Amino acid sequence: HVTFEYCDQMVADFEKVIDHPIREKSSVYYTGVDLGTACVVVAVLDENKRPVAGAYRYADVVRDGMVVDYIGAVQIVRELKEEIEEKLDTELIYAAGAIPPGTDLLDSGAVKNVIQGAGFELTNMLDESTAANEVLKMKNGAVVDIGGGTTGISILKDGKVVYIADEPTGGTHFSLVISGAYGKSFEEAELYKRDEKNHRELIPVLQPVIEKVSSIITQHIKDYDVQELSLVGGTCCLSGIEDIIEKRTKVYTHKPKNPMFVTPLGIALSC
Ligand code: ATP
Repeated sequence: HVTFEYCDQMVADFEKVIDHPIREKSSVYYTGVDLGTACVVVAVLDENKRPVAGAYRYADVVRDGMVVDYIGAVQIVRELKEEIEEKLDTELIYAAGAIPPGTDLLDSGAVKNVIQGAGFELTNMLDESTAANEVLKMKNGAVVDIGGGTTGISILKDGKVVYIADEPTGGTHFSLVISGAYGKSFEEAELYKRDEKNHRELIPVLQPVIEKVSSIITQHIKDYDVQELSLVGGTCCLSGIEDIIEKRTKVYTHKPKNPMFVTPLGIALSC
């Protein structure tokens, strides 16, 4: 297996600089903008491609990878940009963005327009799994992106995406299960699920839906030589999800310390 050492270090460094930005001047800054269903993340790297600052905001501007609130999305990206510019005392000029693999036609440039609308000069647009693998550096594995509405599976061969699939099971279903089991509204269930303190108690309740996600993964990887899985996306923040997935798929499963930060860092690396 790849060691994921680079990924783990990048994510750990990024978490640090969100609270304590590195203000030393850099000749250039590379910015990655990731518009997620749960969260919009902006990651900034210096000339050596090391994290120097970042910011994120829980938001409701994207659903299932599609921008549903364009004006809101532009405003949030602009605010995060300004927040980081103030922290670094510099202007951020260049940024890259990403869309879920296979959604180019559906997106029709919305993400690109959000990034430009927020005042960035766009240098690159790529697919989210290619972006994530810039940080993960897997050769023969799969990026499993468990988001809100869907689970995306991207299989890599020699480091290149060779197969993609997107199945309509994701964190929304997890929240529906919690809502049913606890008699909570969907919104209450969402908040309950996001609180790490509740994860241990929730795992048995969510076991069947996690097993469903696992069998979806197994189904899609069966014809490929997949030696490792790497979990990204908001739903993978659930503590313990990685153990069930590894057990069910029987494939080594890596989970970064914060699965929501891998893709934005990869986007920034490609800037
Ligand atoms: P989509 O599949 O909808 O395109 P996305 O990739 O844009 O999704 P993400 O932002 O990666 O979506 O993930 C959204 C999901 O992550 C939501 O269902 C949300 O409830 C869930 N989520 C966010 N934070 C946590 C957390 N701390 N614990 C558990 N689930 C979480």
